[in-house]
Amino acid sequence: MYKVSKFGGSSLSSVQEWKKVKAIVEADDDRHIIVVSAIGKALPTDNKVTDLLYLVYQHHKYHVAYDSLFREVKEKYLSIKRELGLNVDIESDFDEIQERLENDRISEEELVSRGEYFSARLMADYLGFDFVDSKELINFDYNGQVVEEETLDCIERAVSVHDYMVVPGFYGSYPNYKICLFSRGGSDVTGAYLAKGAKADLYENFTDVSGFYMADPRIILHPRHISQISYDELRELSYMGAGVLHEETILPLIDEDIPILVLNTNHPEEEGTWVKKEVTSRQHLITGISGKKGFLALTFLKKRSVSKLSIILQVLNLFNAYHLQVEHIPTSIDTFSIVVEKNAMEEKYYDLIADLKRIPGILAITEDEDLAMIAIVGGNMVHHAGASGEILSVFGRHKVNVKLIDQGLEEYQMLIGVSNADFEKSIHALYDRFAHEKLAPTAS
Ligand code: ASP
Repeated sequence: MYKVSKFGGSSLSSVQEWKKVKAIVEADDDRHIIVVSAIGKALPTDNKVTDLLYLVYQHHKYHVAYDSLFREVKEKYLSIKRELGLNVDIESDFDEIQERLENDRISEEELVSRGEYFSARLMADYLGFDFVDSKELINFDYNGQVVEEETLDCIERAVSVHDYMVVPGFYGSYPNYKICLFSRGGSDVTGAYLAKGAKADLYENFTDVSGFYMADPRIILHPRHISQISYDELRELSYMGAGVLHEETILPLIDEDIPILVLNTNHPEEEGTWVKKEVTSRQHLITGISGKKGFLALTFLKKRSVSKLSIILQVLNLFNAYHLQVEHIPTSIDTFSIVVEKNAMEEKYYDLIADLKRIPGILAITEDEDLAMIAIVGGNMVHHAGASGEILSVFGRHKVNVKLIDQGLEEYQMLIGVSNADFEKSIHALYDRFAHEKLAPTAS
């Protein structure tokens, strides 16, 4: 058995956590590749190293003193080094980084990546594993997309040389060898590429919870635990806000069908959640419920005589030109809506609206900026006629106005748009209705 095991920032947030990581790794010889994040929060009031490094860069850029922030980062790593009695020389790396920052010779991406780099240097020393820099393994193109074939080749070569290694998550390199970052939380994705490149049997993802729960524990107290979930279900839940794994984690793993097991560093004996291509025994109609507030819908009324397709294409081209991710496009005969995350729109809003109004054939644009989206996900829905009706009736019974409905033909998820104020109430109502309903087991 060959395992890749990734430990998130909270699993590295104190010296006790580092000891737990070592005990977990040493308990199983199959754990060949260890991927680490930057040091995270031990307490809710703590600062994550990655956030601090972004701040250091911005302070320096705007000529504001950054020394205390830099010192805070440095001290986090040096105290781990001291308390674990490690020897690896990270002090000179810190000096070099500071010197390059002073002389504007380090990019923001490189500076921010140093959190993962220092975690990996120390962890390699602590475990007695080889340190292998992800700069040598994960190859990006100039658009920040992973060049998969090259990346897998590099990983394969590293695996043939290093039996046991520690690799920093979250970054790789552009073709010019400068550092490129994944999006936030991207160490999960690094681990997934390593699992694929190493042809691993299992990708373990250690975090501070025992896997996935049917709903957000910040909204539902002690929600039902999910023991198995399919790649597709997970991707929907993660995309709509279930924060345990980065939504792109599964992409490298789908073809090879490498399972992910999400486990808790503080309770490695607990069950965790298996993420697989096929889930064989789903007991519930609904696997999970997630969602996010803060969406905005622009609704376009077009002239009857103008082709809907041509107008939608022009509108989408503009969204693309403004680098705005379109979430949903519900349509009717003469109207269609575009749903986007409000935050992403902020600075671009007025320019975009002005450009949209210039498209010939659009009669009016109205907007609804009070939209929360809820994803109800369940691979069993496709086997049960009436599932959508059941879901919608929950909203009706609780007098929640449904603004938008979106269900794909695969039928493993339904998206419902409601007012932000109805968000928590809807999650509670859905959870109460579906959490404990059991179905006769069906294969997916
Ligand atoms: N440290 C990075 C972040 O906070 C990446 C990661 O932890 O996965 O986003």
